[in-house]
Amino acid sequence: MNYQLIQQNNEVKNMVTIRKIKKRFVSNICRQCINKTYNIHLLHTDCKYGLMYPGLCPVCKEMKNIVTGLRLSGYWKLLTK
Ligand SMILES: [Zn+2]
Repeated sequence: MNYQLIQQNNEVKNMVTIRKIKKRFVSNICRQCINKTYNIHLLHTDCKYGLMYPGLCPVCKEMKNIVTGLRLSGYWKLLTK
């Protein structure tokens, strides 16, 4: 019955999750560091990359593809890990 409510809750959780990551690391970090930090295994296809070129990851200090958002499959992995 409350399918819509559940969906809304999940959307709120998604926003909280990505905000938490950004708040914790100030800026966006690379996929490897997200995987390490949250002990998950995000694939390239689970992430959104806002930049077409590598940027400096503030965590590992290496030039990597910086994750600027997560696709639904990525959020799902974060929420259900
Ligand atoms: Zn990194």
